[in-house]
Amino acid sequence: GFVREQVCFYMCPYARFQAVMFDKETLVPTYDYTRGEGENGRAHLGRELKTREDRTTKGHGDCIDCGLCVQVCPTGIDIRNGLQIGCINCGLCIDACDEIMDKQGWPRGLVRYASELEIETKQKPHIFKPKSIGYGIAILVVTALLVYGIFTQAKMDFSVAQVRSPLAVMMSDGRVQNSYEIKINNKLIRPLRLDISLNDLPKGELEIAGSNKEIVVPTDGYTTLLVRVKQPMTTRGAQQTFKFVLSDKDGELPPTSMSTTFNMPR
Ligand code: SF4
Ligand code: SF4
Repeated sequence: GFVREQVCFYMCPYARFQAVMFDKETLVPTYDYTRGEGENGRAHLGRELKTREDRTTKGHGDCIDCGLCVQVCPTGIDIRNGLQIGCINCGLCIDACDEIMDKQGWPRGLVRYASELEIETKQKPHIFKPKSIGYGIAILVVTALLVYGIFTQAKMDFSVAQVRSPLAVMMSDGRVQNSYEIKINNKLIRPLRLDISLNDLPKGELEIAGSNKEIVVPTDGYTTLLVRVKQPMTTRGAQQTFKFVLSDKDGELPPTSMSTTFNMPR
């Protein structure tokens, strides 16, 4: 889009995580400057710089400064300038450089997954160190929590919003009516047939608005109900807490309840 690689630099959290977790033994796409630069730096493929031997004699490394690794980089990084925060570890610069090395008939890996320490000392990084074991344990714990969350999530949930205009209506029979909008989510792979009832409102009477009094929530979907609750007038301005209870008619799910309030007119 319009902002392009600026998203990678400033908005994507991946780079920030990488910066925190990074150390000298972290494997990342890396330019091997010890091989690429030589004593006199990188150089184009000139007339007398076509073979590795000629280049070594003249103090140049294997980087022919073709710029392909920069051209393919989605965030516009020149990997030869070292690790940068915008690198998304896509590895495109590695493939591009390997292609150039293949064409030259030189060994691959001028740009490769390597650690800073490996480039400096030529030693392979230690994989099993306290930091990586700690990260491994943290990833296992988070994965276990995620799996636990998926398998134990409620198969049905609902929310209740009281209709506030008007909050309470005085009926001709002397009772007071409050209305509620109830949104029910069904996460089962079958339609959910439900009963609705009141708890802690002994004199309350419940009515589902509209002609369809059956509550059927479609598979993996939701439905919204408007319900009215009526009960005799008590003290003006009084509030009473009660619960809506939803019960699965097929008996698979336990009843689920949600608290709300009944308001008398002021
Ligand atoms: S091409 Fe990919 S791996 Fe290479 S520097 Fe750019 S973002 Fe990083
Ligand atoms: S692709 Fe390889 S040879 Fe070409 S500029 Fe990049 S590092 Fe150098």
